[in-house]
Amino acid sequence: HAPHENATVESVLDAVAHGHVHPDIPDYLGFDDYIRGGGYKMLAECLNGARDVDAVLKGLEDSSIRGLGGAGFPTGLKWRYVRAEPGPRMMAINGDEGEPGTFKDRFHLERDPHRFLEGMLIGAWTVEATDVYIYLRDEYPQCREILLREIPKVEAAGFARHTRIHLRRGAGAYICGEESAMLESIEGKRGLPRHKPPFPSVVGLFGRPTLINNIETVFWVREILEKGGAWFASHGLNGRKGLRTFSVSGRVKEPGVKLAPAGITLQELIDQYCGGMADGHTLKGYLPGGPSGGILPASMANIPLDFGTLEAHGSFIGSAAVVVLSDKDNMRDVALNLLKFFEDESCGQCTPCRVGTEKAVRLIGEPEWDEELLTALATVMGDASICGLGQAAMNPIKLVMKHFRDDFVSRQGRVQGPAQGATGSQG
Ligand code: SF4
Repeated sequence: HAPHENATVESVLDAVAHGHVHPDIPDYLGFDDYIRGGGYKMLAECLNGARDVDAVLKGLEDSSIRGLGGAGFPTGLKWRYVRAEPGPRMMAINGDEGEPGTFKDRFHLERDPHRFLEGMLIGAWTVEATDVYIYLRDEYPQCREILLREIPKVEAAGFARHTRIHLRRGAGAYICGEESAMLESIEGKRGLPRHKPPFPSVVGLFGRPTLINNIETVFWVREILEKGGAWFASHGLNGRKGLRTFSVSGRVKEPGVKLAPAGITLQELIDQYCGGMADGHTLKGYLPGGPSGGILPASMANIPLDFGTLEAHGSFIGSAAVVVLSDKDNMRDVALNLLKFFEDESCGQCTPCRVGTEKAVRLIGEPEWDEELLTALATVMGDASICGLGQAAMNPIKLVMKHFRDDFVSRQGRVQGPAQGATGSQG
């Protein structure tokens, strides 16, 4: 499924001339078909009083669903917190999807956009948000086109009568996926992360209490309410609960979006969902959660991939962007690639991150790594950076120093060539 494949300059210009933003729109489930399949029934029940707020909140809490953008905050609790704040309240959807290796939100939007919109509108109803802002990655013009076509249909049918929907284009910066920087960007300012507290649930968009959810999180709401929270929680492996959409890339036979139980291990994911390792490649390590989650070794391929299981190893699942690396990849090169990304994307607001990422790139580019200095730098950046970018930027280096010493201590016998595709940003 490659919606860009047939796009030419002429077709793009033609589409724009006819009021569209992209000429090559994937085949998705439209409004009428979604309704025929029982869509917007849950929302209608909320709007006409057949379902109350407590039932919605209980359903979410029973499901154990947590924020799937990366932070993993319990969704039901977040909705409850925001609802308890004084009005007027707002809602913002984080569709920036900038974490390299993550493409799950796009996958869902390109196939079943109304399932996302219904979950979003149930959220807005629950917290009584006067306005909902969808912050959509600007490199997803097909998704924007789909939403531009479909939102008016939802509004015309009266399903958005309790709120106003605003579709905003992302600003093309990784940092604007950080929730408070996203709020700044929506407000028309430069995307600089805010100090927390106060948290957005208390002081968010335009100073109002704001519910912020990732696209995938609200995507699950309809099904959770239809089938019950226990249904969602009944999935899960290795003691974990729920379903997750993994974006898998790298050295596997069949990379792509994989819908799998939370808590699945990397080995299970590779064997059961990805057709095994790519021919000629042996598993050496993996990024469990994009660049920020660092790099874990093959010996940790049997840890449950979920919130709360990877932290003890200096990593985290984040947005479940799993990048599989093999014996053909040198982890020093991978770490350098990741740090260059952070250096480029640092917003520059605070010194530990702005200067630290630049210094880290220089240090790990040296033939010999000064491990003491790198460790001290990692501590300063982790302790003193304002936001998650600077706090997590050194995770790859810390984990390479811990698990892949052969890749940087001795340069002899090193496999040449960068880890292609290992850290490729989506745009
Ligand atoms: Fe900006 Fe980095 Fe500081 Fe975050 S940690 S506010 S990205 S300079």
